[in-house]
Amino acid sequence: MSDEKQNPEEHEDVGLYQRISERAAELVQEGRKTLDEALKKASEEISSSGDYTREKAEKVGEYLRRDLAEFSNRAQKAGESVKGATEPHRIVAGMQSGLAKFLTTAADVLTELAGKSEQVLEYKTGEVTSPGTLTCKDCGKEMHFKATVRIPPCPQCHKTVFRKSY
Ligand SMILES: [Zn+2]
Repeated sequence: MSDEKQNPEEHEDVGLYQRISERAAELVQEGRKTLDEALKKASEEISSSGDYTREKAEKVGEYLRRDLAEFSNRAQKAGESVKGATEPHRIVAGMQSGLAKFLTTAADVLTELAGKSEQVLEYKTGEVTSPGTLTCKDCGKEMHFKATVRIPPCPQCHKTVFRKSY
């Protein structure tokens, strides 16, 4: 975990990301739901509980979807099955993260995502993402995160667009 203090809004966004990923993973495990349906339903349920606006829940649901897509594409490019790439001992960082939970319990539905997006996904300051390494597209500075975070600006050049690796 990072020692940096989180502001309340950041803390809230990260908490929401974890809740959506845990609930969506449960929905997928229960069956008869595609990944997109599970993400949508999880966002709806959590926003209807009143803790978060629907707009915010949907936005954070999209961040989760992107992380899952990015992970799936990476596994596919490496010639691995998504399932093989998600074996618990392979996930180095952040086993407590919502993403890790999703990957270890609901890997089968991720094949839906693999290969759908050929371009490298962009990550921007202010968005929420799972543990991993973000590389500044401008100066190449790397930031390593061991927990789910809201993305800060580049510490070196203060730009706001990154690509992600694990
Ligand atoms: Zn930079």
